[in-house]
Amino acid sequence: MKNFFTKALFSLLSLASTLVYGGNGSSGGGYITGNEVNPWFLHNTKTVSYCIEVAPEFSDIPKDKLAPMIEDAFAYWKKVFSLTEAYYSIGESEKLDLRLGTQDFKQVVTCADSTDLKFQFGFMTEEQKGSWPKPSQLLAGAFRTSYDEVNLKGEGVIYIAPERGPLRPRARKFHPKPWSFGSHNALRLTLTHEIGHIFGLQDDHYSSGLMSARFVQLLTARESVESIEDWVVKSIASPFGCNDNLEAEYYSIHDVAGDEELRPHVSSTKAAKKSGRLSGGIDDILGLPDYTESYTLYFLTRDREMKISLNGQNYARIVFSPQDFLMGVEEDAIQLLLTDQQKVFKGIDPDEYDVSHTIYDKYVSGQIWDVTLELANGKTLPVNVDFDQACHVEISTVYEGKLIHIID
Ligand SMILES: [Zn+2]
Repeated sequence: MKNFFTKALFSLLSLASTLVYGGNGSSGGGYITGNEVNPWFLHNTKTVSYCIEVAPEFSDIPKDKLAPMIEDAFAYWKKVFSLTEAYYSIGESEKLDLRLGTQDFKQVVTCADSTDLKFQFGFMTEEQKGSWPKPSQLLAGAFRTSYDEVNLKGEGVIYIAPERGPLRPRARKFHPKPWSFGSHNALRLTLTHEIGHIFGLQDDHYSSGLMSARFVQLLTARESVESIEDWVVKSIASPFGCNDNLEAEYYSIHDVAGDEELRPHVSSTKAAKKSGRLSGGIDDILGLPDYTESYTLYFLTRDREMKISLNGQNYARIVFSPQDFLMGVEEDAIQLLLTDQQKVFKGIDPDEYDVSHTIYDKYVSGQIWDVTLELANGKTLPVNVDFDQACHVEISTVYEGKLIHIID
């Protein structure tokens, strides 16, 4: 299923010849070890102070508009973490509180040495410039500046490059005003990505989602900035993928006229590809309407029930029973390394120190087989449901011996 990021990724990957950093400070290649990838804050940190400093070169956005965007990004992550389960143990230790995103983030008026998180819009200190061979290659970044191994708390900087001046990124495809444009959606998404790093998520070199290594580069390209609609910002898929609760809420907009193949379609027949309609058969069974214009599919999955609507009309639903099993490919998402300095957790076996522990996983993909799709017209159909990491859904069935994609 196509979405904005996938489209952007395919159209832009081939254009990106110059390496442009949009990541965190430790992601410049190679294998990351140690506690550098630890979340900056665990449950014992109740409040995180942050401050905002803006250079005149940054953008046309008034300074007072930046804090609400930062607050929105914090709210996004707090919601994601509230819907995503952490592991609760390290080795044989007792149940540990490893939840993330539990903090209150409080803005302070002036940046001070004691401020936990500094947002630097459009400038770097001389020292920071010195740590990059070419600072003007940097689009944005989250850099930890110190880490307290006793209290497991980091401090650092989130940097966003300016639209003007010597630090304006030199990338040929960089939009003239990626942050100032429109309702600042490229900036909102960039902030969300960078704040993801402070929770311990690393750049993902295999996905096209929020934490993709090229996310910021793609967003700020000329081709992208003006096409990021508000709904994209409001419905960012969880970078953890679809978890066991199948929490997913998103829109998918297809422009039928612009698509080579009409969707949804029955891909196994030439007739369907040619006309967008089968000559008869499963589309009638499904009660599929004619698609001559663009349409919107909307999935809402809560409490093990997936509701699917099409152009605002109730289309179908799938009820997952507790026995329905999500088979997924999982990967480490967030890791934590503790040393014997730490005083946050009690009862940790000394063997568990100095090794990385996965505390959050992500589903790269998942399938639920042989569930029942209930259509609004009362018909039912046994289907398989597939999710990709962006929580996009494909629904297929076997019809007359062939695997048929109903929604993809
Ligand atoms: Zn990044």
